[in-house]
Amino acid sequence: MELFDTHAHLEDDQFAAIREQVLQRARAAGVTRMLAVGTTLASSRACLELAERQAGVYASVGIHPNHCQQAAEGDWQAIVELSSQSRVVALGETGLDRYWDYAPFALQQDYFERHLRLSQETGLPFIVHMRDCGPEIVAMLEAARRHGPLRGVMHSFTGDLPLAQRCLDLGLHISFAGMLTFKKSDELRSVAARIPADRLLIETDSPYLSPHPHRGQRPNEPALIEHTARCLAQVRGVPLEELARQTTHNALGLFSRIPMSLP
Ligand SMILES: [Zn+2]
Repeated sequence: MELFDTHAHLEDDQFAAIREQVLQRARAAGVTRMLAVGTTLASSRACLELAERQAGVYASVGIHPNHCQQAAEGDWQAIVELSSQSRVVALGETGLDRYWDYAPFALQQDYFERHLRLSQETGLPFIVHMRDCGPEIVAMLEAARRHGPLRGVMHSFTGDLPLAQRCLDLGLHISFAGMLTFKKSDELRSVAARIPADRLLIETDSPYLSPHPHRGQRPNEPALIEHTARCLAQVRGVPLEELARQTTHNALGLFSRIPMSLP
């Protein structure tokens, strides 16, 4: 069985002393590919360095909405330059966040827009973080859609079915993380049951939010993705192996700079 963790902050300081073991445990658990997702210029560079050294690790480069206030103006140009590297397979994470409200909303929108435009120029897919601002996200996606097709994923999706449907209509993929496995997440599981099979992705969003039965354990790590995969397979009524095969196939289709052959 091959699993693809499409969202992990592998460069995070929480992994500093244990990164080698974390990657080994992931591979032992069948996680053959991982996408290391940047949140600042420095972390994007760290993700790329990791991707260049580690088989099966790929990088996404971008500036997170919660960090765009700290970005220097030259940082964005550096992200644009990084995006042409062959181990960079996606842009982000980007999006909007009204919950933490770390950066002025107009500035978050400015950076989200830059990622969307760069995606349309390069063909690289984008990764969307959404917290308490579904309608604003959809409005910006719809505006971008008028300039051309969209390639991207709603990461760690926690919205309702109508929101998922609008994102699907815009051509996006939907990715589920450990929250899917929590006891209180019945509504989210019913959404996950109804996403078309060819648009589904899975992720850990490690080091955050470990899945049940490891909830509360820090840090979360890619090896634990099997719990989310198992939960998703169960709610959709398909064997785990089928869910793993389908989601890995979907990820390779979306992050198409990754070679199809095993790393
Ligand atoms: Zn993330």
